[in-house]
Amino acid sequence: MNILTVDVEEWFHICGVGGRLDQSHWHTLPSRVVSTTRRLLDAIDAAGVSATFFIVGWVADRHPALVQEILSAGHEVGSHGYWHRRVYELTPKAFAEDLESCATALVAAGASRPTSFRAPEWSINDRAPWALDVLARKNFSIDASMAPLAMVGRLAYPRQPHVRTTAHGDILEVPPFVADRFGQVMPVGWGWGLRMSSPRRVLSLVARANELGQPAVLTVHPWEVDPDPPRVWLPPRLMFAHYFRLGGFERRLKDIMKGTTFTTLRATATCAAAS
Ligand SMILES: [Zn+2]
Repeated sequence: MNILTVDVEEWFHICGVGGRLDQSHWHTLPSRVVSTTRRLLDAIDAAGVSATFFIVGWVADRHPALVQEILSAGHEVGSHGYWHRRVYELTPKAFAEDLESCATALVAAGASRPTSFRAPEWSINDRAPWALDVLARKNFSIDASMAPLAMVGRLAYPRQPHVRTTAHGDILEVPPFVADRFGQVMPVGWGWGLRMSSPRRVLSLVARANELGQPAVLTVHPWEVDPDPPRVWLPPRLMFAHYFRLGGFERRLKDIMKGTTFTTLRATATCAAAS
């Protein structure tokens, strides 16, 4: 019923920061993505879960064997863009080119051409009203990028999977999991919102959404299970998003995976189409 997604990116793939984390320096920074993704793969496989891995094209180009490990473990592979840039900061043409570069890297690594997409930093929103149209034109059929949350999306976006019509065909939009807590809408399904919540709390909020017929889409990153994460100075909001309560997250994630059922985006979409 629920969906587990992994955004496969390096610890330095952070939107909106320049300086030594600028993409021109990426090749000089220590790579952690292989060992940390393997930790996640081990935990996910031990839980008997199938997940959707949205892979950054830059990572697939450098670590094609990692793409193979993900595929041979039976998981779905989707696109997280080539350069991990916010969609609304691109032109439609640059977005299409970035999607193509990522697809080329994934196919070169042995994956099928991707048809599922997750935007870096949930950046398909009202600032990029053309984005789904570009995705449909590039033969994507699932997008998992539109957050029903004011900070990165819009509170009024639907919380359940829904079809959005574009000039080039329909896209199934599968939003990330949010829940009402402390009188606010919280990102319980990812990032600091997921890391701050106890497994028991997450599971009870997931169960409540399931009672309403909504699958919960959870998202994790390899850098969140790094036992020795490199630390860099970031603006306060990003510092919180990236470093808040990393300690013990892997253990809490294992408890969450034990407590409910997860599958891939594609399996959910197939079920929805059949029912
Ligand atoms: Zn990302």
